[in-house]
Amino acid sequence: PAAEAGLYTASDQIVLLSQQNVGSVLVNSSAATVVEFYASWCGHCISFSPIYKKLARDIKEWKPAVNIAAVDCAADENIQICMNYKISGYPTIKFFHAYSTADSAGVPYRGFSRDVRNLRQRIIDSLESHGEPWPPACPPLEPTSETEINNFFETNTVQHLALIFEDAKSYIGREVILDLLQFENVTVRRVLNTESGLVAKLGVTEFPSCYLYYPDGNFTRLRVNFEARAFYSYALQRLPGVIRSGKPPPVTMELVKNSTQEPWRPFDRSRVYMADLESALHHSLRVELAVQSVIKGDSMIALKSYISVLAKYFPGRPVVMNLLKSLNSWLKNQTVDQISYKAFKENVDNTAQVPDAALPEGVRWVGCQGSQPHFRGYPCGVWTLFHVLTVQASNTGDSDPQEVLTAMRNYIHSFFGCRYCADHFENMARESLEVVNTLPSSVLWLWSRHNRVNNRIAGDLSEDPYFPKIQWPSPEVCPSCHMLKDNGEHGWNENQVLTFLGSYFSSSRILLDYLE
Ligand code: FAD
Repeated sequence: PAAEAGLYTASDQIVLLSQQNVGSVLVNSSAATVVEFYASWCGHCISFSPIYKKLARDIKEWKPAVNIAAVDCAADENIQICMNYKISGYPTIKFFHAYSTADSAGVPYRGFSRDVRNLRQRIIDSLESHGEPWPPACPPLEPTSETEINNFFETNTVQHLALIFEDAKSYIGREVILDLLQFENVTVRRVLNTESGLVAKLGVTEFPSCYLYYPDGNFTRLRVNFEARAFYSYALQRLPGVIRSGKPPPVTMELVKNSTQEPWRPFDRSRVYMADLESALHHSLRVELAVQSVIKGDSMIALKSYISVLAKYFPGRPVVMNLLKSLNSWLKNQTVDQISYKAFKENVDNTAQVPDAALPEGVRWVGCQGSQPHFRGYPCGVWTLFHVLTVQASNTGDSDPQEVLTAMRNYIHSFFGCRYCADHFENMARESLEVVNTLPSSVLWLWSRHNRVNNRIAGDLSEDPYFPKIQWPSPEVCPSCHMLKDNGEHGWNENQVLTFLGSYFSSSRILLDYLE
């Protein structure tokens, strides 16, 4: 309940401190921890909370070295914690070293600015001056030297050594080092522009710039749209052989084929497949809904709007559209406030034999195939389905901007099997769905919330190592979607993203391969 009342929830990737966990999070932890002590009634804290949430998302990859936490000092049960740490004003931010003792008071960030970049740089300053014992997950942050690089491969077996050349004031090198700390087969070091031997050897003229350096002394410049943190991190995380630590190493496609029950279906990763959309419909209408033997109340409303949106916007084959339309008119004609799933299913299966109307049975994942049977599949199909629907609705030009998103929200809330996912999605919808007031913004809302989810679950056990969760689309797929803001931060060019989504999910680009 305290967490609910406070300004943050666990899905913000912020550790919520309480009397129960404060000892284990702040005392003798192997990670350093940044803590915001706030009061949920304080206006400054409320206006700062989106920035703190953004910071937590921004440095999510640094977690094993530095964690982000918060505690609501206005909650009765936390008063003792805030008294122990002698908090007298809100918000107060403190840095706790790794392996802090129980009497450590933390180092306050005085006069911190309300800006993600500035906070991130202060965290780096704190880490650099951390002293022993150093957080074990934190790679070295100090600049490297020519001697060290010359001897690097004698003691290291990593595949890629990335060198970021920059001036002493730049934080990019250290940010990228931390962004990559959860990845194997790549080591990142910063080289100062004053390291003249290395600068001359590689012929470096631009600062910052990034080079890949190999054991045989060969090197190449890393190609990126912009010489900036996000672009280096995107590119380095996706180098061949680079994988997240703790993930099974990539196997050859032969093994992938053998590990799934079905034959692997080669596909183009940059395309949407009708087979995935029809498979998602099959699973949704014949499996997911089937657990509710009677559908009534909110579930009935959710089902009606879902089927109505499908009948209107699903860009399906004629036989599937006929089925969806007849299902929709049957459902609309139901005047009673509840139906049995059995009756619904008869219509899905077209037992009345409406001519040329059918939804193929079974699933056949293509673009949503996973490298193991438990990866991807249905949830991938659900995302794809609703992205397609928002884009289709947006093309009609005169629909209600919230129609598809509300249908999705209600479907997920009433039926989506992953209840934990459904709760998070509902939180996001509650937080910001009401601001969607144009069709383009509905397409962008779903894209950006999907990226939120990607950010939150990147690296989880459920992630298919072949399909790492990234902020999508990557700069390789859509260079113009990405931009560099004046302050050097990564930004999305939303107009370009919209154009990209409009084409990526457009009905005319959907591939019909592997359909029955
Ligand atoms: P998915 O994330 O399923 O994406 C499918 C495809 O969509 C990708 O391959 C890519 O081509 C494209 N894509 C990726 N990002 C975007 C984007 N931002 N905009 C448009 N297209 C994009 N899992 C959890 O562990 N925890 C959760 O809380 C959770 N919540 C979920 C909520 C919803 C509503 C749904 C539908 C799923 C949720 N899942 C959650 C499942 C998770 O998001 C993935 O669907 C699942 O892990 C399969 O991932 P995937 O690699 O197939 O990619």
